[in-house]
Amino acid sequence: MADGNTPHVAIIPSPGIGHLIPLVELAKRLLDNHGFTVTFIIPGDSPPSKAQRSVLNSLPSSIASVFLPPADLSDVPSTARIETRISLTVTRSNPALRELFGSLSAEKRLPAVLVVDLFGTDAFDVAAEFHVSPYIFYASNANVLTFLLHLPKLDETVSCEFRELTEPVIIPGCVPITGKDFVDPCQDRKDESYKWLLHNVKRFKEAEGILVNSFVDLEPNTIKIVQEPAPDKPPVYLIGPLVNSGSHDADVNDEYKCLNWLDNQPFGSVLYVSFGSGGTLTFEQFIELALGLAESGKRFLWVIRSPSGIASSSYFNPQSRNDPFSFLPQGFLDRTKEKGLVVGSWAPQAQILTHTSIGGFLTHCGWNSSLESIVNGVPLIAWPLYAEQKMNALLLVDVGAALRARLGEDGVVGREEVARVVKGLIEGEEGNAVRKKMKELKEGAVRVLRDDGFSTKSLNEVSLKWKAHQRKIDQEQES
Ligand code: UDP
Repeated sequence: MADGNTPHVAIIPSPGIGHLIPLVELAKRLLDNHGFTVTFIIPGDSPPSKAQRSVLNSLPSSIASVFLPPADLSDVPSTARIETRISLTVTRSNPALRELFGSLSAEKRLPAVLVVDLFGTDAFDVAAEFHVSPYIFYASNANVLTFLLHLPKLDETVSCEFRELTEPVIIPGCVPITGKDFVDPCQDRKDESYKWLLHNVKRFKEAEGILVNSFVDLEPNTIKIVQEPAPDKPPVYLIGPLVNSGSHDADVNDEYKCLNWLDNQPFGSVLYVSFGSGGTLTFEQFIELALGLAESGKRFLWVIRSPSGIASSSYFNPQSRNDPFSFLPQGFLDRTKEKGLVVGSWAPQAQILTHTSIGGFLTHCGWNSSLESIVNGVPLIAWPLYAEQKMNALLLVDVGAALRARLGEDGVVGREEVARVVKGLIEGEEGNAVRKKMKELKEGAVRVLRDDGFSTKSLNEVSLKWKAHQRKIDQEQES
């Protein structure tokens, strides 16, 4: 933790590995490029998961981690949606956070800045008590952020469920969106998760700034609009792409097996298939995907998880409880052994996406996965499942970075459609167009992170503000 002279930032990642990973990358950049000391303060409702520990253990020793005592969620129904559990975990961790800040203050090691993510704004109450400057790290893109900033107005002006809206909603700077594609918690306005989302979003205005993990080439119009000053909107800084640079939680043998297998495949021939840290398919969808991959005749590396009726069922723990291999169609592994590799629950995604044998990524459009693909120039097939993934998919298709796997009328992507879109991406004309666009985006991602690049300059600007605030806090602590 900070020694009192170096500028000190505290970061609270709300539960979920997809929230932690980009914040870890932010922490590394603050340490390496700006001389900050960083302390991760980790809330949870149970002891830290293996995946969390693995990510945090991989950090340099100058980035400290403090695990808050588990928040009591015993009164929360097991059917509560992930956004409700996440928000409640952060909110109910405030007493422990207050105690921690109290000790740090007594030791004159109080951070100057507290960075939280989308669901962490209640921690601003504690930050305010200690004059710690509050910031938000928005781990998704500027399109979804713009939508969220607009949500309180939509809430006031739309009386029905958003999913019943017959026309797409036009928000300046955003890709037009139908209500059915709104972020998951907006699909049922009576559900607690919607109330929590709205609650957090309404508190965005209390932040001194919002950092966004996106970059200018990807959504130039939106970024221009979201950065325009407006009452009640803090300054918005585009600082991405911050992407997973390590291998976390992959079993060493699995890691070796995946990469070794990729070493033996032709250049650009393999489709990587993964639904992130928590995504699961229904049994029917799992079978259709398996049969479609086989039917496509293309090479694939598929990370499987046991099927479930709830798309986010593995969100808090990526490891499947049942053996996921037992759900595969009979004879599937044998039939596809020349072309495919299937691994259970978790794979070293960062390394996989940099491998030259990878020719495409069928993804759930989690924002980290999307950015990891973009920085490697790997074209996408968009297969969104939950959270803000449908909105991410719209953006990615709109900019030409992804093909879309189309749902049938029964809500399932059939095997023929899987085979069509996979062949289209790996060898079709449409795949070539997406590949070309991805190459441009990859170059853009390199440009914005150069010393004089857009995202580097944005983070420089923020870090100067934070350092100034640290000096003020130090003076206050001395007087
Ligand atoms: N990830 C990984 N191996 C896996 C699945 C996921 O390393 O088998 C990493 C992935 O590289 C990404 C993160 O976990 O950094 C998932 O974040 P994303 O935003 O894509 O999706 P989420 O899991 O939050 O839905």
